[in-house]
Amino acid sequence: IDESEKFRIEYWALEEAKLARMPKPKPLATRIALVTGAASGIGKAIAQRLAAEGACVVIADLDPAKAQEAAAEIGGPDVAVGVGADVSDADAVKASIDAAVLAFGGLDLVVNNAGMSISKPLLETTEADWDRQHDVMAKGSFLVSREAARVLIEQGLGGDIVYIASKNAIFAGPNNIAYSAVKADQAHQVRLLAAELGEHGIKVNGINPDGVVQGSGIFAGGWGAKRAAVYGVEEKDLGKFYAQRTLLKREVLPEHVANAVFVLCSPDLTHTTGLHVPVDAGVAAAFLR
Ligand code: NAD
Repeated sequence: IDESEKFRIEYWALEEAKLARMPKPKPLATRIALVTGAASGIGKAIAQRLAAEGACVVIADLDPAKAQEAAAEIGGPDVAVGVGADVSDADAVKASIDAAVLAFGGLDLVVNNAGMSISKPLLETTEADWDRQHDVMAKGSFLVSREAARVLIEQGLGGDIVYIASKNAIFAGPNNIAYSAVKADQAHQVRLLAAELGEHGIKVNGINPDGVVQGSGIFAGGWGAKRAAVYGVEEKDLGKFYAQRTLLKREVLPEHVANAVFVLCSPDLTHTTGLHVPVDAGVAAAFLR
């Protein structure tokens, strides 16, 4: 055989050896997860679902007392631990990753869920609004992913990073320039990190929820009232109103987003990375008015 054929054979032998060393995804029951913003709403439902599957969960949220309360509700200290962390603060992020490693011995799965919404029209959006929105969600998820990736790469066991982005990452709506722009940033972080971390067996995927009214602090904190006023419905009926607008005629609840995290991180879904899964009962699939 000539030199180029020899090179080709050696090249593929090395590639195959590399593939054989690639970690196989671990079952959820053996995983250690960090979920940011999991003291309420969607994040709490995700933490609950992961714990129900047998995973150990660290809940990182702004208020340590609320994080600990949610952890206690989910299970004892062998199952869930709550830590206070502002995800826009690099030291706090590192401390919460360290807390996961210290409490449970490692890290396998991270959910970038922490969020808030400054939803204003363009002309009312201040620089401070823009900065805070981007600090919490663009910088925050970057910091969490970076610190988590350090641990995941060092462990050499692969892992999952999931972003809770939004339908707004793709589709425009009026009066929330800062929030929607930052969701688009998160969606691109998914693709960028999928490209960079794939060779370590780390999958990075996103979920785009829409209209999760029940349990959501974002909706209860003013966004719901604003949307209800736009649609001319009572705020308490907003969930049902959204349901009518979906293709499936179903209200989206926090646990439906948690189900998608479960599927994306299931050891059966071995070859899916850089994907965005809508959890919106079909809103993004059609032009609905
Ligand atoms: P939520 O207010 O119930 O949950 C957000 C959590 O993030 C809260 O517990 C809050 O304390 C925490 N948080 C806020 N800023 C933080 C910070 N700097 N550091 C750490 N934690 C922080 O709202 P939710 O509706 O459950 O939203 C969860 C995620 O889902 C958000 O990223 C949101 O943008 C996204 N999302 C929600 C919907 C929806 O319909 N509710 C739709 C699309 C996307």
